[in-house]
Amino acid sequence: MALEFSEKIRRIPVYPTAGGYALGDEYAMLASNEAPFGPLPGVEEATLRALRNVNRYPDPSNMRLRRALAARYDFPPDRIAIGAGSCDILLSAAEALLEPGAELVYAWPSFSVYPQMAAATGARTIVVPLDADDRHDLDAMRAEVTVATRLVLVCNPNNPTSTALPLDAISAFVAGVPRNVCVLVDEAYCEFNVLDDPDASIELVRRHPNVVLLRTFSKVYGLAGLRCGYALCGEEAFRVAVEQVRQPFFCNSLAQAAAEEALTHQDEITRRVEQTVAERIGLEEELRALGLTVADSQANFLWHSLARNGDADPAARERAIVEGLAERKVLIRAGSALGREGWARTTIGTAAENRRFLDALAELL
Ligand SMILES: *Cc1c(COP(=O)(O)O)cnc(C)c1O
Repeated sequence: MALEFSEKIRRIPVYPTAGGYALGDEYAMLASNEAPFGPLPGVEEATLRALRNVNRYPDPSNMRLRRALAARYDFPPDRIAIGAGSCDILLSAAEALLEPGAELVYAWPSFSVYPQMAAATGARTIVVPLDADDRHDLDAMRAEVTVATRLVLVCNPNNPTSTALPLDAISAFVAGVPRNVCVLVDEAYCEFNVLDDPDASIELVRRHPNVVLLRTFSKVYGLAGLRCGYALCGEEAFRVAVEQVRQPFFCNSLAQAAAEEALTHQDEITRRVEQTVAERIGLEEELRALGLTVADSQANFLWHSLARNGDADPAARERAIVEGLAERKVLIRAGSALGREGWARTTIGTAAENRRFLDALAELL
C-alpha cells in the first residue's frame, strides 16, 4: 500500500527552482538573482568563529542579530522577526494568518513562493494581474479586499518583472486597507530601487500596525547560501505568531553571525548597489538596441522579451534562446516558468558575465 498524504500535498505547487547548481564554476549563474560578489569583509571570519561553537544550538531568540537590526533601523527589537531566509517568514505568515475561508490577495506575475501560501493553508487566492507597465495595480488589488481577506502581498520591486512602485502609491494603498488585514511588503530587492530611499518605507511600518516589511540577506548582502531574512513588523503579535508555527531553532548560528557582521558594512553595500545599477543601465540599453522589450528595472535583474514584436511562436523562441544560452554556459530564467511566455528574467552579474550574456544573446538572435 502507498503512503497516504494530506490533501494539501496534492494542492501545493512545486516551486520552479533554477537548475545549474551542480554544474561547474565556468557557468554564468544569472538565473536566481543572487549577488555575483563574494562574502562582505569580515563575514568569513565571523562565520568561522561561529563554526567553533556548532555543538551548541543557535540562539533561538536571535537576539544579537535582532539588536543589530534594531540599532540599524532605530526600530524595536521585539517587532523584528528573523527567518531561515525571508521565504521562511512568508510561509510562516501564511500558516499564522490563513486557513480555509480566509483570503489572500497578490499580483501576478510575482514571486513563485506566493502560490504555495494559499495552497498550503486552504485559503482562497485572489490573483490580480499587473498593469500594462508590469507594475502592481494597487487600485485593482484594493477592490479585491473583502471581510475574508487576511493578507495582501505587495512585492516591491516585483520579482520577476523588476518594476517598482513609488512609496507614495504604497502608502496610499495601505491607508485604504482595513486595519485587520495584514499588508506584507516584500522588499527583497529594495536596496537596488532608486525611486525612493530604500529605508523610507520604515515610516510605513511605524505608522501602521498591520504592515510588515520583509527583507533578506540573500540578495545584496550575498548570503543566499546561509539562509537568513527578517521582517520589520507593525506589531509584535506578528513576530510572536510566526515564531509559534515554526521549530524553535529556525535560523542557524552561522547565518545569524554572518548576517550580524554583514550589517556593519553598509559602505560596501552602497558600492555594490552602485556597480549593479551602472551595469543595469548598460544592459537595458544593449537589450533595447537588440530590438527587445525591457521592463523598467529597480532590481538586480532584468525582465525582458526574447522575441521581437510579431514573432509567430514566442514560446519556441524562448526555449531556443534559453537553451542556446545554456549551451554557451550562461543560465537565465525562462519567462514561461514565471508567468509569461517569450520573456526571460536575467540577473545582473559581474561586468564580464553580463558581456558574455549579451554576446551570446546577440549571436542567438
Ligand atoms: C529572493 C526573494 C526573496 C528572498 O528569499 P530568501 O528566502 O530570503 O532567500 C524574497 N522575496 C522575493 C520576491 C525574492 O525574489
